[in-house]
Amino acid sequence: MKIARFSHRDSIRYGILDDGEFVVLDGDPMFAGFDTTGERVAVADAVLLAPVIPRSKVVCVGKNYREHAAEMGGEAPAEPLLFLKPNTAVIGPGDTIVRPPQSERTDFEGELAVVIGSIAKDVAVERAHEVVFGYTVANDVTARDLQRSDGQWARAKGFDTFCPLGPVIETEFDPTSGAIRSRLNGEVRQSADLSDMVHSVADIIAYASAAFTLLPGDVLLTGTPAGVGPFSAGDTLEVEIDGIGILRNTARNA
Ligand code: MN
Repeated sequence: MKIARFSHRDSIRYGILDDGEFVVLDGDPMFAGFDTTGERVAVADAVLLAPVIPRSKVVCVGKNYREHAAEMGGEAPAEPLLFLKPNTAVIGPGDTIVRPPQSERTDFEGELAVVIGSIAKDVAVERAHEVVFGYTVANDVTARDLQRSDGQWARAKGFDTFCPLGPVIETEFDPTSGAIRSRLNGEVRQSADLSDMVHSVADIIAYASAAFTLLPGDVLLTGTPAGVGPFSAGDTLEVEIDGIGILRNTARNA
């Protein structure tokens, strides 16, 4: 099922998408289960929000598609290359990405995002699916010039608004295959299949949880395919994963 977090009449609600409406849930389903209030809200009357606010961190993998590693001038690392984005970078579908004045080149990176559903430490690959709440779509926005000049990636990946998530969490998604594509102002720039990932979702969960305790609501970004590129103020960015939805954001300068 597809779960959204949305605002409606000045309150923030969670709902299950059903035939153009949200079946309103009693609370955050990650913690409160799937009891419903009996209300239904038309999708058109709701303003979608980021479907999850990571409780502690967004764990990301760099260079996890071979063709993208090649376009960045290298090879895909033998082990997942992990970095973090702060949870303050998260914005929702329809929100505006703000290009910071410190950077002259901000890039889009369309990615599959994994939403962790339970406390996870030292999770075996074969049990990784047990700690997943669901999947959503992400844009790993990157200040490419600062990524190169800083020597490490915290600032380049971590600006406010640099982690759009949404539009919904799909709880029954199979992450081993499926089309992912990104569009800049309607033009396709990235198009790949999730099966092209070097390190699978299960591998990433096992590897990351061997280092960090993952908490419910933490998010993992699984790397971007080839075709990344810069965007400017006024541009519209879309990342689409078949079976989940389209994450659409516009951009402006600070
Ligand atoms: Mn990325």
